Amino acid sequence: MPLSAAVSAPLPVLGRDVLVPLADGSEVTYAALDYAASAPALQRVWDEVAAYAPYYGSVHRGAGYLSRLSTELFENSRRTVAEFLGCRPDDQVVFTRSTTDSLNLLAGALPWRTRVFVFETEHHAALLPWGRRDDVRVTWLDAPRAPGEAVDILERALAARDPHGPALVCVTGASNVTGELWPVRELAAAAHAHGARIVLDAAQLAPHHPVDISELDVDWVAFSGHKLYAPFGAGVLAGRADWLGEAEPYLAGGGASRRVVRDGRGLVRVEWQEGAARHEAGSPNVIGVHAIAAACKALTEAGFDALVERERALVDRVRAELAELPRVRVLSLFGEGAPRVGVISFVVEGWDSGRFAAALSEGYGIGVRDGLFCAHPLVRVLLGREPEECGGSLNAVRVSFGVGTPDEHIERFLRAVRELAP
Ligand code: PMP
Repeated sequence: MPLSAAVSAPLPVLGRDVLVPLADGSEVTYAALDYAASAPALQRVWDEVAAYAPYYGSVHRGAGYLSRLSTELFENSRRTVAEFLGCRPDDQVVFTRSTTDSLNLLAGALPWRTRVFVFETEHHAALLPWGRRDDVRVTWLDAPRAPGEAVDILERALAARDPHGPALVCVTGASNVTGELWPVRELAAAAHAHGARIVLDAAQLAPHHPVDISELDVDWVAFSGHKLYAPFGAGVLAGRADWLGEAEPYLAGGGASRRVVRDGRGLVRVEWQEGAARHEAGSPNVIGVHAIAAACKALTEAGFDALVERERALVDRVRAELAELPRVRVLSLFGEGAPRVGVISFVVEGWDSGRFAAALSEGYGIGVRDGLFCAHPLVRVLLGREPEECGGSLNAVRVSFGVGTPDEHIERFLRAVRELAP
């Protein structure tokens, strides 16, 4: 029996028939096992984008039919994303370019002198945006070795802060290195108990798991279309409207400005928009936004329960097989039993990770990622080493998959690892 047939089949994605050359001169279909970097587009997303393309027009600008159609599509996409995320009535969905863009937008909108708390284990997109303002103080929290410890560490840090003044916690839902799930609901409860707010980096969680902003009780959620099977350059920041509404617009320009006049002294006076438009200056990426909405619908209709179940079977299978190979060490922060999505990083004794990834590509047509995955402090914790201690080549291999991964790709990957590191 195929390893996951009992649960469900993969969803159709683009690129399943792409042939790639191998070092021996033969060709093989590409096995995309780098979903955590960018996932292939769902066929359904592509079909919806292609169906819309002839009707493309400028959003929020023109009176012409196609312009109005595009505007309607853009605003309907906002509603679809809000539904997908279980947004509360007052929440706002702002379209951005990516998770990085979303978190930078929020960082710029923090009230004066916000205290920010972030675990050192975060992706750089969640780690770095906060420290760029002189008035904002960032506290990096130590890497926890269990989900419960994460909550304790956060509780202690929040209890030690001056309770007056705004505070924000930023946390990932699923690690882009270990795939491990973080205790978001518990962290949100801890944040709120101490008068802080919390933003969830759902870049790796949303493609694999339902993300419900109300149920998790987080204040904001950020994710990227290209990891959610909609690789068309758009992202989302959804959540509370107040801080964003009081902040300077992320970009100054058309769309974000309601009224611009020169006063008697020749100075320019601007009234900025309220709502999401305040932070969406310029002509928006209507195709990217439409693609995100199409992906949200496709995932919802496919049924997340079945998708999660199937992926769990794949993860368990890969981890169990890798555990049997004495030269392979799978990286984990929370240990064996921790729930995780389809993201697994490992090192292979006797192999440089970059060379191992190249061997998977050249010998088997498998695309994975190697390196530090934009999470340098985390990889250092996981490997227990500094780059200098290993000749500057501190790195690992990451295999990642999702709703479009056929069993054959997993089988090919496991065969390749067995052959390369018997
Ligand atoms: N957070 C996490 C957990 C990620 O994995 C990534 C992408 N690797 C990001 C944030 C940044 O996403 P993007 O590059 O789409 O902005």
